[in-house]
Amino acid sequence: MSADTVPVTGWGRTAPTAARLIRPRSYEEAVAAVRDCGARGSIPRGLGRAYGDAAQNAGGAVIDMTGLDRVHAIDAAGGTVLCDAGVSLHRLMEVLLPLGWFVPVTPGTRHVTVGGAIGADIHGKNHHVSGSFSRHVLSFELLTADGEIRTVGRGTPLFDATTGGMGLTGMILTATVQLQPVETSLMSVDTERARDLDDLMARLTATDHAYRYSVAWIDLMARGAATGRAVLTRGDHAPLEALGTRARRDPLAFRTPRFPAPPAYVPDGLLNRTTVGLFNEFWYRKAPRARTGQLQSLSAFFHPLDGIPHWNRIYGRGGCVQYQFVVGHGQEEALHRIVRRVRENRCPSFLAVLKRFGDADPGWLSFPVPGWTLALDIPASLPGLGTFLDELDEEVAAAGGRVYLAKDSRMRPDLLAAMYPRLGDFRALRARLDPRGVFTSDLSRRLTL
Ligand SMILES: Cc1cc2nc3c(=O)[nH]c(=O)nc-3n(C[C@H](O)[C@H](O)[C@H](O)COP(=O)(O)OP(=O)(O)OC[C@H]3O[C@@H](n4cnc5c(N)ncnc54)[C@H](O)[C@@H]3O)c2cc1C
Repeated sequence: MSADTVPVTGWGRTAPTAARLIRPRSYEEAVAAVRDCGARGSIPRGLGRAYGDAAQNAGGAVIDMTGLDRVHAIDAAGGTVLCDAGVSLHRLMEVLLPLGWFVPVTPGTRHVTVGGAIGADIHGKNHHVSGSFSRHVLSFELLTADGEIRTVGRGTPLFDATTGGMGLTGMILTATVQLQPVETSLMSVDTERARDLDDLMARLTATDHAYRYSVAWIDLMARGAATGRAVLTRGDHAPLEALGTRARRDPLAFRTPRFPAPPAYVPDGLLNRTTVGLFNEFWYRKAPRARTGQLQSLSAFFHPLDGIPHWNRIYGRGGCVQYQFVVGHGQEEALHRIVRRVRENRCPSFLAVLKRFGDADPGWLSFPVPGWTLALDIPASLPGLGTFLDELDEEVAAAGGRVYLAKDSRMRPDLLAAMYPRLGDFRALRARLDPRGVFTSDLSRRLTL
C-alpha cells in the first residue's frame, strides 16, 4: 500500500492540509490502514467531492476507498445491488442502466462513491419524493475503530449515526442499496421561468408533488423586482412510449459527453460580479418561458458539469465556498432575508439552486429536513466573505435551520448543536465506539464532532 504525504483538499479547493494518503486494494489492507493509522487518526475518503474539509485529516491518514470498487451482486428482479463502498455512482449507472435500474438518489455529480453518499447522506432533485440516500440503503458493513467489521441494518443507532456521520463512526466497506426501476435512460423535462422568489416558491409549493425530480436555478445577482428570479426544471424518467423510433433501438444507452478541461492555471477573479452578472442574465433569458416534455439525457438533466473535467479550477487558486442551508416550512421570511442579503452583498454566484425538501430521514447528522434549501457557490477570495457567512449562519440557526456539513469548510462550532439536535447522541456514540479517536478529520476537529 502506498502512503505518500500529500496536500488534500475538498472540491472547493479551500483549506488544503497534508496527510498520508493510503489506497487499500483489499479489505485486509483497509483493516491494516486503520489499525496502523497513528496518533492523528484516519478518515475514509471517496472521490473528494465534498466541497469542504470532511475527507481531510491534517497530519494523519486519509484512506482513499476508490481502490475497493467491486460490484458484488445485482438482483435484477428485485432491484438491489451489493457493492464496495468505493464504487462510484457513475460506475453503478454504467452497470445498472442496461438492466433497467437507476440509482435511487443522485447528487449534482455522479462522481461520488457509495461510501461518500452514505457518509454525507446525500440528497438529490427527488428528495421531496424519495428522501435522502440512506432511505434506500438496506444495510452496510462497517469497519469500526476496534478493528471489527459489523453488519449494520436499518433502525439501529449505528445505522442512524453513520448515515450523515461524515465517516466518523467507521469505514463503510460494502453496502446493499435498493434501486429505482427505469424504462429508458432519458428524462422527460418541463421547464418554466419564475419572475421572482415569491413566484418561484408558489410554483414549487403548488405543483412539486406532480414531479419525481424538481430543482430551480436561481439568479442571485438579479435586483429590484426580479430578485430571486429563477428557471425551474422538473421531470421524471421518460417511459418507453415517449421515445422516437431511433431512440427506441437502444432505450437504456448511457451517454456521457466530455468537453475539454479548463487549463491547470486559471487567473483569480475570472468569476466576478460583472462576468457572473452577464452569465446569469444570459442563462435566464436563454431558458424557455414554459416548455413541457423535452427529452434530455440523464447526464444533461442531473450532472451537466460532469462533462467538464476539473471544472472547479475556474474559481482560480483561491477556490470556492459552497454554502448550503435549509430552513423549515414557515420560515419563508428568513429565506427571503437571506436571498436579499446575498443580492445586496453582490456575491457572484452562478451555481445557485433552490429546492423544497420532503420528509427527513433518521440520520442523526443527516442534513435534509422538510423546508427550503438554498445552495450557492461563491469565490473564496471575495472580500469579507468569512464575516458575511458567519452572519448568514446566525440567521439560519435563528430560523431553526442548518448548514450542510458536506459543503462546509469554515463554520464555527458554537451554532452546531442548535442546528443538529442529535449532536449529543452522536458525540456519545463516538466516545463509546471510538474512545481513542481513530476516526477523525479536519471537519471533526474544527467542529468538535
Ligand atoms: C458538483 C457537485 C454537486 C453536488 N451536488 C450535491 C447534491 O445535489 N446533493 C448532495 O447531497 N451533495 C452534493 N454534492 C456533495 C457530494 O455529493 C457529497 O459531498 C458526497 O459525500 C461526495 O462523495 P465522495 O465519494 O466524493 O466522498 P468524499 O468527498 O471523499 O467524502 C465525503 C464524506 O464521506 C465520508 N466517506 C467517504 N467514503 C466513506 C466510506 N467508505 N465510509 C465512511 N465514510 C466515507 C468521508 O469521510 C467524508 O466525511 C455535490 C458535490 C459536487 C462537487
